Amino acid sequence: MNEVQGKLKGPSEAYGTCALCKEDVALIDSHLIPKAAYKHARISEMGADGNPIRISGPQRTACQTTAQVTRFLLCSDCEDLFSKHGEKGIGTLWSTEKGFPLRSKLIAAEPLSASGDFAVYRPNDIANEDLCALRYFAVSVFWRAQVWDWGREEDPYKRALGEKYEGEFRSFLLGESDLSSIRLMVLANTNDALNGYISFPRASRQGRTWLHEFTVLGIKFVMAVGYVSEQIDSLFSDVENDTILLTYDMINTSEFSGLAKFVQEEVSVKGRLAKKHPQIVRPKGAIDRS
Ligand SMILES: [Zn+2]
Repeated sequence: MNEVQGKLKGPSEAYGTCALCKEDVALIDSHLIPKAAYKHARISEMGADGNPIRISGPQRTACQTTAQVTRFLLCSDCEDLFSKHGEKGIGTLWSTEKGFPLRSKLIAAEPLSASGDFAVYRPNDIANEDLCALRYFAVSVFWRAQVWDWGREEDPYKRALGEKYEGEFRSFLLGESDLSSIRLMVLANTNDALNGYISFPRASRQGRTWLHEFTVLGIKFVMAVGYVSEQIDSLFSDVENDTILLTYDMINTSEFSGLAKFVQEEVSVKGRLAKKHPQIVRPKGAIDRS
């Protein structure tokens, strides 16, 4: 598997320049998505044995794997910053077998507005420390994806943050400045069957606005960076904050139906997944469009 390359490069790679503080020091084998997330990752419909399914868009392959995506990226001090300000907090909010604390906190509050499967909540419906952890964590994952060495794999994020915002995000993560260039939507999924899902950061354009997103254990992060359309901005001015909280049903959103369609129609399915679900393997004679 390509994703374990970082671990196989040997001990010489464990010394280098920390991508965050830029010190030349011993580097930690860092995770793109926190290690703790993988033990809760599961997809009840497709991955009944509990292993997360990793979809690689550009290569159009799906494999069910316990391999985690790691690289020697950060020194231990910077890894501690990420842990203290983001990962510890998110670990008390995401969905596990024991429950889904973020969603519980939200549904206990009165929504600001609700429409269909979506409900919007006020930032102060959760504790400020939870809000700060969600924001720091989201910024840290997008930044990691930006500076990540994808090796021989196609970069799914495509350096979408750009140099300017990479610098701003880095300064924020080091605690040197705040960020004024982001609008963050944090969505808690109400559909329990899909809360074991992890998706890597990617970015797409809606009009002139760039939206960056990833999902981990029931929490979807959607961040607008830089220019924000009036329509998107109005959501945030209503709550006078750059972070808003929502609940939604992932199965009814284009993201998941798009993914399911992609998996069923476009992806060549490998390994155990193919044995377990022969119906989603591409039929013989199908035109290879990859
Ligand atoms: Zn460092």
